Amino acid sequence: MEFGAHMSSSGGIDSAIDRIVAVGGDCVQVFTQSPRMWRPTNHKPDAIERFHEKRREAGIGGVVCHALYLSTVDAASAIGADGVIFHVGSHLGAGFEVGLDRTVAALTQILARCEGDTWLLMENSAGSGATIGRSLDELAVLMERLDHHPRFGICLDSCHLYASGYDVTYPAAVDELVSELDGRIGLDRLRALHINDSAVPLGANSDRHANILEGVMGENLGAFLANPAFQHLSAYLEVPGENKTGPNANEIQKLRDLHARWIGV
Ligand SMILES: [Zn+2]
Ligand SMILES: [Zn+2]
Repeated sequence: MEFGAHMSSSGGIDSAIDRIVAVGGDCVQVFTQSPRMWRPTNHKPDAIERFHEKRREAGIGGVVCHALYLSTVDAASAIGADGVIFHVGSHLGAGFEVGLDRTVAALTQILARCEGDTWLLMENSAGSGATIGRSLDELAVLMERLDHHPRFGICLDSCHLYASGYDVTYPAAVDELVSELDGRIGLDRLRALHINDSAVPLGANSDRHANILEGVMGENLGAFLANPAFQHLSAYLEVPGENKTGPNANEIQKLRDLHARWIGV
């Protein structure tokens, strides 16, 4: 398993590689656009070139983009990202079926633009408000509606699973989730993990990440992390960090240690 985190790319997309190297990560997640701008950031060709160079030199494995807007796909393909992770979104009170129709229409267009080896990965939601994607069932419906497109997959977030009612803090429950996932969607569709502790109790349907060992899941988050079916994947932290400055070296080390304690248990 590779361990990494979401890192800022402010100052140029290649700076995300510098930042993940500085905190000792193996893989990195980035936004390819400013969270405050609706427009996709136009990355300069030389920054993209440097990104590829630095990734190679530092031996960084997985690279994923977290999409705020689906226009992220073009930038993600340019930096050779393994996947673009997106939240399925909300049906805004229109109801699941109507929301689903809109989502399917948008995703079909986006998938046509996803080039090379860049997959589009839907992330399970914490189940707050009218979000789509709170259960494997909802994700499975989307997978079917997109005709099992060969580059359409999923990213599981441990905090969102817990908040939406999946108690993944003990091995038998994680095994059950894995076999449900395999039966409904296919294990080969799982391409990335977000590892976060939850600041809210099981089934609270609220999206609040906590630092490793500092949330409700605590040490037992290791049960999720160490499942045999996940060991070939890249795990990305999206934790608040110290004073909310984002994932740091300490969080990545805690993640590695937690994994080491549970693997082979
Ligand atoms: Zn996430
Ligand atoms: Zn979240």
